[in-house]
Amino acid sequence: MFLELKKLFIGESAPVEFSTELNWSEEIMYGQKPFQAPLRVTGVASNTAGIVCLRYEVRTVLKMPCDRCTAETEFEFVRNMEHILVDSLNGEDTGDLIVVEEGLRLDLDELVHADVMLEFPTKFLCKDDCKGICPKCGINLNIEQCRCTDKPIDPRLEVLKKLLG
Ligand SMILES: [Zn+2]
Ligand SMILES: [Zn+2]
Repeated sequence: MFLELKKLFIGESAPVEFSTELNWSEEIMYGQKPFQAPLRVTGVASNTAGIVCLRYEVRTVLKMPCDRCTAETEFEFVRNMEHILVDSLNGEDTGDLIVVEEGLRLDLDELVHADVMLEFPTKFLCKDDCKGICPKCGINLNIEQCRCTDKPIDPRLEVLKKLLG
């Protein structure tokens, strides 16, 4: 989706509202396709005393395997983003400014894509205290308890070990 912002930049337009849905179901992150639900983007671009500002919310549900037990889990993903838009740079450092070229059309999809990639979570846990998978037998320890966890060491044996060592 492109936003036409020429009138907004010259102060001849009311705030520009937008709302769109993006389909990224083929997008691959960490070897997975987490965007099985559409991304809903709603926002507004406004010009306040010559400063053009773009605010939007992006919302979706990510499907990712749990980092510890690999169970496929859904994660609510909501971010509120804000950018200052400029039509040219005055040789200053760009900072967080977004330069809108091409006759003041903003490629919203591209901007949302860049933002979501930056904001994409790095940790996925099905629950905070997920017990994960036993490294020895592969059992999901959230569901079953296996017998190969190291047995607690008998304190008497420990003393013996010290004497022998
Ligand atoms: Zn888990
Ligand atoms: Zn085990």
